[in-house]
Amino acid sequence: MSLYQCEHCGCCENTALGMQPRTPAKWFDWTGIEDREGKHLCSACGPTRYSQGTPTEYGKWHGQFDRVFLPMGKFKTNRVGNLEHIETGTEDFRSFALAKETNNG
Ligand SMILES: [Zn+2]
Repeated sequence: MSLYQCEHCGCCENTALGMQPRTPAKWFDWTGIEDREGKHLCSACGPTRYSQGTPTEYGKWHGQFDRVFLPMGKFKTNRVGNLEHIETGTEDFRSFALAKETNNG
């Protein structure tokens, strides 16, 4: 498992709790969120239904750790599976955190 940046909201997510990389988009129903199709999404941004109509675990933040929003496109998953700031190479992504979202369920 590794950390990645959600390509829709920019937050830091873990592959064990959000989407695995390269999860086939055709597995899901993207109705209403067509702009997210094919992106690597966090648990909160992920589609709420599979293509057959059964609910996914996505659509809400998992709550296993704080949701940290980061500047979009500035981070990548590095060799050891941590989130790395592309410009500086630091893994201290929390120092780049944007506004914090309160947990309203
Ligand atoms: Zn997201």
